[in-house]
Amino acid sequence: MALIVQKFGGSSVADAESIKRVAKRIVDTRRAGNDVVVAVSAMGDTTDELLDLAHAVAPTPAPRELDMLLSSGERISMALLAMTIHSLGYEARSFTGSQAGMITTADHGSARIVDVTPVRLREALDEGAIVIVAGFQGFNRDTRDITTLGRGGSDTTAVALAAALGADVCEIYSDVDGVFTCDPRVVPLARKLDAISAEEMLELAANGAKVLYIRAVEYARRHNVLIHARSTFTSNEGTYVLGEGMTDPRLAKGEDMTDVIGKEEPVVAGVAIDRSQAKITVVGVPDVPGSASAIFTRVSKAGANIDMIVQNVQSASPGRTDISFTLPKEQARGVAQQLQAEQSELGFEAIVHDDQVGKLSVVGAGMRSHSGVSLTLFDALSRHRINIEMISTSEIRISVVLRDTDLDEAARAVHTAYGLDGGVEATVYAGTGR
Ligand code: ADP
Ligand code: ASP
Ligand code: MG
Repeated sequence: MALIVQKFGGSSVADAESIKRVAKRIVDTRRAGNDVVVAVSAMGDTTDELLDLAHAVAPTPAPRELDMLLSSGERISMALLAMTIHSLGYEARSFTGSQAGMITTADHGSARIVDVTPVRLREALDEGAIVIVAGFQGFNRDTRDITTLGRGGSDTTAVALAAALGADVCEIYSDVDGVFTCDPRVVPLARKLDAISAEEMLELAANGAKVLYIRAVEYARRHNVLIHARSTFTSNEGTYVLGEGMTDPRLAKGEDMTDVIGKEEPVVAGVAIDRSQAKITVVGVPDVPGSASAIFTRVSKAGANIDMIVQNVQSASPGRTDISFTLPKEQARGVAQQLQAEQSELGFEAIVHDDQVGKLSVVGAGMRSHSGVSLTLFDALSRHRINIEMISTSEIRISVVLRDTDLDEAARAVHTAYGLDGGVEATVYAGTGR
């Protein structure tokens, strides 16, 4: 008997009909002779709606209360799902994050899982029940408060459950057939990947591909959990995320993989886009040792997560330079205000806060051994007259910052330029993309 963890995202349980579809799928897995543990997200856009509500009553809601509020979304879906399974004649039991033993750090809104003690889940499994766990939430032992794991965090719940229970596979269901070469909502000719390395998936997720949450991929890599990203709406095989040393399960199933194995790995695995960042430029910084340190000390005190940094050699005024950096949109205003308040001490001329940027990243492990990969990117953007504002690279990634209005066209152009286009349009089965 295998143990399968299945995670269903918001678009998979958006309404009563969808919950029934998911319940049938779970029961089918059970009927096939498997133990089933399910992690479920809040219905549809519930989490966004709860966030909107919170901000309608308080400009900066207290983090503890925000977690109490947001964690309620998953409580609704877990109970409804368990009831639906009962009505199909199967035993199911739902558990909150704390009942399931999801022990986290105390950081409200971005807690990390530090331990999983699934005692009650094991008991329920031993008694033959299907186990349903509320995704995205946990419990801190010191504060004794409910926490949440960050947006998209139900994926991490599922992977952590799979690791703690020694599951054979962690299936992450959503409204697309798996991991594509780019977001199929933006690039209709994106192709589904049969498998992707955890390393490449991490870079895609870190750079905006929300089909899998970055912390879930990290957790899976660390704990050797096999992730299978697939669609709720079909029974097609999706995408396997393969950590180091994992063999492709299609091989184990005896599928003919000769055409896959013989092929050289493509240089580029996929393209990711990210609209969540803003750009701040500190104009006319004194071009002397210590300037960058002084600025980023302030930025770090404000708790901001910096992504790219670019320093120009010289700005319009002699002896001065411009420093630009990107950071999450919601942190940008605070950081800009913090720097502005210390203008005379830092000695710069002005601060420019720009919300209208987008980031495009090209990811591929093959970049390590191939030169000229960036040229294809720059050339594609130039042919579409799209201006590049910042560039950064890692061993397996090239990222550029563009105007946000250019992002979609850029993604399609770059996708074509790297030869990633498939023959048919990808299907997005549900969801609002929010
Ligand atoms: P869920 O609500 O089930 O967690 P998400 O909305 O978080 O699902 O993730 C699925 C969505 O991720 C898709 O609808 C798609 O628009 C988006 N997406 C972004 N990049 C990719 C990609 N490379 N491959 C597939 N989907 C992607
Ligand atoms: N409901 C949470 C969110 O919308 C967690 C999740 O769906 O993964 O972010
Ligand atoms: Mg998600």
